Amino acid sequence: MLAGDPALDFVNTLHWREDREVDFLPDYRALVEWSVPAALLSAGACQDLLNCASASPDRADEVHRQAINLRATWRSSLDLNAGGNPGSPMESDVLRRELAPIFAISESLLRVEQDGNHMTADFLELPLVRIGIAVASLAMIPAGRRIGRCEGDPCGGYFIDSSRTKPRRWCSMDSCGNRAKVRGHRERLKRAAQAFTCEPAGKAS
Ligand SMILES: [Zn+2]
Repeated sequence: MLAGDPALDFVNTLHWREDREVDFLPDYRALVEWSVPAALLSAGACQDLLNCASASPDRADEVHRQAINLRATWRSSLDLNAGGNPGSPMESDVLRRELAPIFAISESLLRVEQDGNHMTADFLELPLVRIGIAVASLAMIPAGRRIGRCEGDPCGGYFIDSSRTKPRRWCSMDSCGNRAKVRGHRERLKRAAQAFTCEPAGKAS
């Protein structure tokens, strides 16, 4: 988890790698397992949810579909805001509409959680609710935090930019940052080689 906020790690689960789009959340199981390192679910809840999901696979698929819809809406809302363009009011309405039913289920879930009754199908919606809360708290209450976008082409991942001096440029120094460094180095070598081969030959024809 590199983005500095689970709501951004969530949107980055649809990611560019080696020039193709990879979805790290292809199914409900992946959604639940991802929620543990994202600090949205405990390991114990994760296991309970996976047991529940194998008992109610259709319901689990439906929760996964809702999570993917939320991710798409959340991403287009971020895309609109990227580069300093204020998101259109329409777009934040779409996000709000997507979040409203998620908050509606959060109350009944709270009771399920308090009762320690983790084995009912209602419990399956827990990761969706936790993600919804994370998205809402970042989207609606940014608290002066700056959201940066990775310059890696074609990464476009999002992160919280908490750097004080110059702005953070990469989702991860190990992947996008490193690739850009290697590319820059290669281009400098190429330019140097071109300058070297052009010079002694002078102008042809
Ligand atoms: Zn990146």
